Amino acid sequence: MPRLAIFKTMNPLIIIILGRPGCGKGTQAKLLQEKFGLDYIGSGDLLREKVKADHNFSSSKLKAILDRGDLVPTFLIFSIWLGKIDAFKNKIDFKGVVIDGCPRKLLEARLMEDALAWYDWLEYTKVILIDISAEDSYARLTQRRMCEKCNGVIPYFGHFKDLTVCDKCGGNLIKRVDDDPEAVRHRLDVFDLEIQPVIDHYGKSGLLIKVDGDRSIEEVHESIMTALKINK
Ligand SMILES: [Zn+2]
Repeated sequence: MPRLAIFKTMNPLIIIILGRPGCGKGTQAKLLQEKFGLDYIGSGDLLREKVKADHNFSSSKLKAILDRGDLVPTFLIFSIWLGKIDAFKNKIDFKGVVIDGCPRKLLEARLMEDALAWYDWLEYTKVILIDISAEDSYARLTQRRMCEKCNGVIPYFGHFKDLTVCDKCGGNLIKRVDDDPEAVRHRLDVFDLEIQPVIDHYGKSGLLIKVDGDRSIEEVHESIMTALKINK
C-alpha cells in the first residue's frame, strides 16, 4: 500500500468561524470541537501564547499590536498557522479542525485557500458567520469579564451577566485587558475594514453560512448544526 494512502481517511470537517468580536466564536468553536472530535486553531490563543512564551523582538512588537486591537501581519499568523495545519494533516486519526477567527484579511483568505487546497481540504471547508450587530459587539466586549484563576472568559449576555464568581472554578472575576472602550471601537473599525471583505468574499464563493448570533449559546449551536447538515 502506498504510504500516502493512510492520509486518505474519512472526509474531514474543516470549519472556519468568523464574526464580530464578542459574537461567541470561541464558545461555538469549542462546542463543535467536542461534538465532532475536531482539532482547534484559534489565532488569538496562538498569538497570546507566543507573546507569553518568547521574549524577543517579535513578541514585544506583537504584544503592542494586540493591545491596540490591530491585526497582526499575515506572514506571522501564517508561520504559526501552517505549522499547526501541517501537523494535523499527518495525524492518522484526524477528523477535522475548527478555525476560530482566521482569516482576518483578504490576503489571508487567499493564502488559506491555497493551503486548504494543498492539503485536499478545500472541498470540505465550511465558513460560518455568527452574525451580531456592531452595537451588540460593543456591549458584549466592554462588559465582558475574565476569571483570575482559570482565565475563563465570562461573556456579557443571558445569565452570565449576573455571575459574581467564575461558574467553573469559583475564582474572582476581573475586567479583561482588551475591553477598554477605545480599543473595542478600534477593533470594530478593523472588522469593517478588513474582515468584512473576507466575509463578502466567502459569500460570493458560496462557502458562507450565516447564523443569527443574537441568541443563546445552545440556539446558535443548533443553527450551526442544522446548517452544516444542509450544506454537506
Ligand atoms: Zn475560573
